[in-house]
Amino acid sequence: MTIVTRFAPSPTGRLHVGNIRTALFNWMWARANGGRFLLRIDDTDAARSEERFVAAIREDLAWLGLAPDDEVRQSDRFALYQARFDALVAAGRIYPAYETSQELDLKRKVQLGRGLPPIYDRAALALSDADRARLEADGVRPHWRFRLDHDAPVEWDDLVRGPQRFDPATMSDPVIRRADGSWLYMLPSAIDDVDLGITHVVRGEDHVANTALQIQMFAALGGTPPAFAHAALLTGAEGKLSKRLGSLGVDELRAGGIEPQAIRALLARLGTSDPVEPTPEMTPLLAGFDFARFGRAPARFDEGELAQVNARIIHQLPYAAVADRLPAGMDARAWEAVRPNLSTLAEAADWWQVIEGPVDAAAVEGEDAEYLAAAAEAAASVDWSDAPWHALTARLKAATGRKGKALFLPLRRALTGRDHGPDMAALLPLIGRDRALARLRQG
Ligand code: GLU
Repeated sequence: MTIVTRFAPSPTGRLHVGNIRTALFNWMWARANGGRFLLRIDDTDAARSEERFVAAIREDLAWLGLAPDDEVRQSDRFALYQARFDALVAAGRIYPAYETSQELDLKRKVQLGRGLPPIYDRAALALSDADRARLEADGVRPHWRFRLDHDAPVEWDDLVRGPQRFDPATMSDPVIRRADGSWLYMLPSAIDDVDLGITHVVRGEDHVANTALQIQMFAALGGTPPAFAHAALLTGAEGKLSKRLGSLGVDELRAGGIEPQAIRALLARLGTSDPVEPTPEMTPLLAGFDFARFGRAPARFDEGELAQVNARIIHQLPYAAVADRLPAGMDARAWEAVRPNLSTLAEAADWWQVIEGPVDAAAVEGEDAEYLAAAAEAAASVDWSDAPWHALTARLKAATGRKGKALFLPLRRALTGRDHGPDMAALLPLIGRDRALARLRQG
């Protein structure tokens, strides 16, 4: 059996951390099993769907390295939904209902007032043909409900949550189509899952109750339900479902210098029993990927942790992977010299500026000024083709008796204008003899 997964966002906004994680799990499950990963654009709601978000979703997935093998759009599939709908109406599994939303609200209030669960009472099923004809003659257009089969419990073995059981009699027959003919999410999704041969539906646990309803739809459609994996939700660092998480999108992460590899590495492991592995490669993450290792407790997403994973990944990125994003002229040697000091790639430009100059070093007085003068002299005569930093500091150590901080810090400050930074042994050859001499003489 070829595994087929799908990521099914509604194009009503950009991808945020929660749905990036869903996309990632679907992509990983397909990749780990030699399967296929589909992007399904859930754009049945024409009023809320926007073409710019369809484009953004594609771009974001590509940037994340989660490009789909194929893409389908629900808005291209209305004829299929209509055919399945007609068959289910004919079979009595879908029925028209005429209540207004005010009437339904009132029914719910009455039920709650009596201490009863607010389940739809199926009054529409009791209408006679004559009742319906009268309502329609009065211009009332029906909405449509899927009639749940109350005879047996709905059960499935969730790959994350384990055995699940729902009593359909405790659920309302879901509205699947509005009076204006537009589709709600539930039925088209089940039709697509059958039609596209989806083997695994991987999504957030906010869909668990929908799954119970959709399992009955799969049966009504004559399909076999796919396997389900409902991942626990993400919470913010404070442990609460945070608003920020719902809005933190690829655009903002990217603008903040977060690499796609960091997002993947962190989200692949958050909420699982495996430690986060800051690896730029997907292969090691795929190797251990298993829904059985997912916990049921909400997983904490911490932006600070993401920043740390990001830094550790940048420290491993080869020059070829970043060359087109570095300042003009910055070569592999310079990248390797500054890479261990970066939290974001953009900071490489700061160090390139330090290398190229001019640097803004604070004026030095007294002993340190004499020391820098001696350093300039020594620097003029060391062999620049072979480890000049070691040669320079060895000479200065012998000549002045300085060591440790007193030996190194004044040099670093004069040469870079900073107290901290990349290893001077790597940096000095990049600064080069002429610039180094000028900076030491100025000090
Ligand atoms: N469009 C639905 C959503 O974004 C898809 C849910 C599903 O995976 O079935 O919630």
